[in-house]
Amino acid sequence: MVVVMKNNSTPEQIKSVTKKLEKLGFKTHIIHGTKRIVIGAIGTREDLETMNLERLPGVERIVPIMKPFKLVSREAQETDSIINIKGVNFGGNNITVIAGPCAIESREQLLTAAHMVKKAGAQVLRGGAFKPRTSPYAFQGLEEEGLKLLREASQLTGLVTVTEVIDERSLNMSMDYVDILQIGARNMHNFQLLKVAGQSGKPILLKRGLSATIEEWLMSAEYIMAEGNNKVILCERGIRTFETYTRNTLDLSAVSLVRQLSHLPVIVDPSHSTGNTKLVPPMSLAALAAGANGLIIEMHPDPSTALCDGHQSLTPDELNLLMKRVTRMLEVLSDDSAVEMEDVVNG
Ligand code: PEP
Ligand code: MN
Repeated sequence: MVVVMKNNSTPEQIKSVTKKLEKLGFKTHIIHGTKRIVIGAIGTREDLETMNLERLPGVERIVPIMKPFKLVSREAQETDSIINIKGVNFGGNNITVIAGPCAIESREQLLTAAHMVKKAGAQVLRGGAFKPRTSPYAFQGLEEEGLKLLREASQLTGLVTVTEVIDERSLNMSMDYVDILQIGARNMHNFQLLKVAGQSGKPILLKRGLSATIEEWLMSAEYIMAEGNNKVILCERGIRTFETYTRNTLDLSAVSLVRQLSHLPVIVDPSHSTGNTKLVPPMSLAALAAGANGLIIEMHPDPSTALCDGHQSLTPDELNLLMKRVTRMLEVLSDDSAVEMEDVVNG
């Protein structure tokens, strides 16, 4: 349930409500909304205690949350979460673009890519140092050497960085080098890793699993938030269906729906969802129209030489062009005479 505190509730009142909840066996999470403070209380005795709690000083009302995901839900927080990472915002009215190579391959490749990403106007640089590959014989990533290159690229360009972590070892290794940790599709169900990601306190980019339902995806986000980490960005990256002409099937309805169900930012990966450079631009624009808060796009200085996912990586020129189209799309979406984004998201 959520305990909504009054506008003028004092820090002492919040503390005493939290204490009482914890005494009753609830795990509490303070959520700072734009207007007031709410206390998320996770426990099993909701029906028993609801009545008494409403009488505590400073409490406005109690809202039971019936869905299995609690902290992630719109009931827990009405307003969009805005996650600020070194001045780059995810969520709310911000549209944030992450771009870069699938894998970090060399100093020259990454630094060239970083400058191209910056020039195109994206705010975040992606690059995998630990690659979860289908084949054990495929390139597995440069590991710590790659992380060092990512840090250097960030220092040179000022770009915020994201890299995928695949286990506790890679997570711990990445902590000092990158700004955002990605949990990839294959690890969305790795609950132990989700817990450690929650404890890390770092912003987490959580991709949807290859065959995860929307509820399973949100429950994975709940794992991270339950550890006290509110900085979760969701990423729709396509799901596996019977279709073989695309790498995965991009589920854009999930984007609009999750924006209704949750206050967390939702971005879209048009690269892994389609596996086809020709589909990346149209699906990027469609994602924004569906209410996505941003995009994560694979770009390689020379896709023909890429060690990983070259077939779906844009060239720097293609990224430039796409960014221009994204800007034009945003103008259309913010035009008063066009459909308000609120309408798109809220139906
Ligand atoms: C990636 O972003 O490089 C990646 C492996 O993505 P996903 O987990 O969505 O397959
Ligand atoms: Mn990739």
